[in-house]
Amino acid sequence: MTEFAIADGRALGGSYRVVVTARSMMPAAVAALELTLHEIDAAASRFREDSELSRLNARRGGVVSPLLALAIGQALRGAEVTGGAVDPTVGCAVRLAGYDADFASVPSDGLALELVVQRVPGWETVQFDPASRMVLMPIGVELDLGATAKALAADLCAAAALKAVGSGGVLVSLGGDIALAGVPPEDGWPIQVSEDSSAVIEVGEETIAVTCGGVATSSTTVRRWNRGGAVLHHIIDPRTGLPAASPWRSATVVASSCVDANIASTAAIVLGTEAPSWLEERGMPARLVDAGGRVRRIGSWPNPEPGHSRLPADSQETRSRLVS
Ligand code: AMP
Ligand code: MG
Repeated sequence: MTEFAIADGRALGGSYRVVVTARSMMPAAVAALELTLHEIDAAASRFREDSELSRLNARRGGVVSPLLALAIGQALRGAEVTGGAVDPTVGCAVRLAGYDADFASVPSDGLALELVVQRVPGWETVQFDPASRMVLMPIGVELDLGATAKALAADLCAAAALKAVGSGGVLVSLGGDIALAGVPPEDGWPIQVSEDSSAVIEVGEETIAVTCGGVATSSTTVRRWNRGGAVLHHIIDPRTGLPAASPWRSATVVASSCVDANIASTAAIVLGTEAPSWLEERGMPARLVDAGGRVRRIGSWPNPEPGHSRLPADSQETRSRLVS
């Protein structure tokens, strides 16, 4: 059995976990991960006034750094492949719904908000030229890269940590957005599925084994708050500009990268009843939990068997890369 070394820390307003199989190389893995996280935070955080993204939103355009260009490119690709279910122009709507600061600073209760049903401006209004890295946005557009930048960060951190470690395999989890790189442990990486990434690892919980790519969970149960008795949460339906009224309270997806897994998991919440067929058509193994806690497993996602705490879910051939 492969042995792991595990390190935990805090970053991007949440927790991180890095796991390596080359145990003595953990300090190098952590250093590479923290540097990458620092770079992503400085480029793409919407909670820091001094981030490159905040400055871009304030002046509605300009030439951006290669890293922010990568994040914007992924966000726009996410919008294209989901038909706009995942749309980075939700920025204003997320803020008006009350999620206007790092989540730890969002009060859990407050006075009623007057929210208006209004479609978000839409990702097609953003002009982006990857070659020159020039971005132009009309008035009223605020980019929020929340759904793709953290997952992209997980992919970049796993690649950077693997390069620093030099051998073996690396798992990086950023608040439950998980990216894998290098040679996996013999039985795959065991990943416990949970709506809350801070849940403790326990025998008996549903666990899958994955060898490469990424896993992401989107949920409406953790980042939620009350305003005047109404429950609001952080996943916006771009068609209404309001927290999505989804039949699913959480969606976990396995894909060829963490960013694709996350595009699909956020999309699943927004797509609602259409999500199972959308995921199936793309061959994406997924686990959806409805409001009553009933679980629906999609594609090659394994059914848990009594007595087994770990299940080999991995099946490379059925794992999809989202293409437009
Ligand atoms: P996730 O938890 O990965 O599904 O990402 C949710 C985060 O992405 C939220 O906290 C918002 O910052 C942002 N977001 C919310 N709704 C959407 C949406 N429909 N499309 C793109 N980003 C979104
Ligand atoms: Mg996510």
